[in-house]
Amino acid sequence: MSTLLPQYRGYDSLMNVRDHTVTKGLSARTPAGLPSEIDHYIDGRMVASTTGERFVNIEPVSNREYSSVAAGTSEDVDCAVRAAGRAFEGGSWSTLPIKERANVLRRIAQAIRDREDEIVTCETFDTGIPVTQVKGQAARAAENFDFFASLIVALHEDAFSVDTRQLNYVLRKPIGVAGLITPWNTPFMLETWKLAPALASGCSVVLKPAEWTPLSASLLPAIMEEAGVSPGVFNVVHGIGEIAGASLVAHHAVPLISFTGETITGRNIMRSSADHLKGLSMELGGKSPCIVFSDADIEAAVDSALFGAFSLNGERCTASSRVLVETSVYDAFVSELAQRAKRVVVGLPEDPATELGALVHPDHYGRVVGYVTTGIEEGAELVAGGSRPSHLSSGNFLEATVFANVAPTMRIFQEEIFGPVMCVTPFSTEDQAVTLANGTKFGLAAYIWTNDIRRAHRLASRMDAGMTWINSHNVRDLRTPFGGLKASGVGQEGGERSIDFYTSRRAVHVALEALHVARFGL
Ligand code: NAD
Repeated sequence: MSTLLPQYRGYDSLMNVRDHTVTKGLSARTPAGLPSEIDHYIDGRMVASTTGERFVNIEPVSNREYSSVAAGTSEDVDCAVRAAGRAFEGGSWSTLPIKERANVLRRIAQAIRDREDEIVTCETFDTGIPVTQVKGQAARAAENFDFFASLIVALHEDAFSVDTRQLNYVLRKPIGVAGLITPWNTPFMLETWKLAPALASGCSVVLKPAEWTPLSASLLPAIMEEAGVSPGVFNVVHGIGEIAGASLVAHHAVPLISFTGETITGRNIMRSSADHLKGLSMELGGKSPCIVFSDADIEAAVDSALFGAFSLNGERCTASSRVLVETSVYDAFVSELAQRAKRVVVGLPEDPATELGALVHPDHYGRVVGYVTTGIEEGAELVAGGSRPSHLSSGNFLEATVFANVAPTMRIFQEEIFGPVMCVTPFSTEDQAVTLANGTKFGLAAYIWTNDIRRAHRLASRMDAGMTWINSHNVRDLRTPFGGLKASGVGQEGGERSIDFYTSRRAVHVALEALHVARFGL
């Protein structure tokens, strides 16, 4: 059965859900009160697409359609950008005194906290991520706004006095209309991760959420209105990336794009942004190594490797998807990983006992399962998982999967799978560990487990990674730089760097006395 509404048939190949068993209608699990229709939010109003086109939204446990979503076109994007431009020029937000702007951001954080249950319910249902893990994401979303409220109040600019002759100082101004394009893993958290610094900087925004997970973004308009964000400052256009997303990137009145998603999409966006020389922040894919030396706290390293690979269903950009283990402890480590992975509880996302939920979409599920087949064909040793759990006969469920003896030439070692699939590879020397760790095109995160303090720091400086954790899983303070190297991204956000991205800095040079000037043309 097709999941596509008649008006949207042209996009079959993009949605590509015809091959899967997808049914219409709500399941008994559907939470009460979910919207059956999700529209754009432009200039303070919920609106359908100018063409009337819609696409369907399915949930990953039953793959049932449960809502229809306005399918944004270039006209819708243009309406949103013009509304955002008018709001920006009007100055009600862009020139609002910093303390007042910070107060609004704090009210947004509070409105998120007030709706935490609703956000968690929506996000769990739409993404398939276990409810216990979604709760942390909602709390982090509120923290994003609180953090940037505090940051802009404390922000100071540089001033330079040049002897008694000159004073130089820096003026900071919001850049204008920011285009924010976000992925489907942890959608609400990532949307707020971009919205908070963009709004804190005084920009107006047009958000294009991922088409597979539009639900939680539909809660944002009410949150913004309750907090006092005036019409036009915050806009949402839903739709297919290649249409709505691409139109936002191509729009001449959007001077900067903050994008999180796949590396290949990032490349396309960079190409299309060239004509308008847009500012770009690119948070892209990863295939992060977790390096375990024999002197490490092995129990803690096992916990961390498993959590890093299987939390958020393994649909995590910083997942520790490649575990590199020193040969002397390799067999015991693999055996422990395998035993624990077999006990990872796969189940309904809303069940608090669930550790691994349903992958977001049947297309993505097919892709991840395809990688399991590839790993077996490539000769990697499947030591845990690899199949649909026997108690879950439908939906996008996969056991926590561990491959051992994965060679660095294998595709499962090199390519981002973005699902619950861990690759384990042995190493003998520190140099070998570094070569393996750095031996993919990605460079997002790295995790190092050793109790040798000198080796830990030595290795951290040799990692091709934007972020390295030593004896820790991914715990990040919002002040630190966030971003990847190589194919994992361009530019870093986090703390003041995010404000730098959404603002321009202009140097003003003031002469305090008559300066010598060569007198041409006398
Ligand atoms: P994706 O690239 O398919 O889509 C991301 C967003 O881009 C969606 O909103 C999509 O509609 C839009 N899009 C698609 N094509 C577009 C185009 N041509 N022009 C403009 N917009 C377009 O990514 P995804 O599958 O949604 O997300 C998974 C990927 O995101 C993984 O690779 C993951 O590693 C990455 N990710 C990275 C980080 C990070 O911080 N580095 C964080 C989370 C996810």
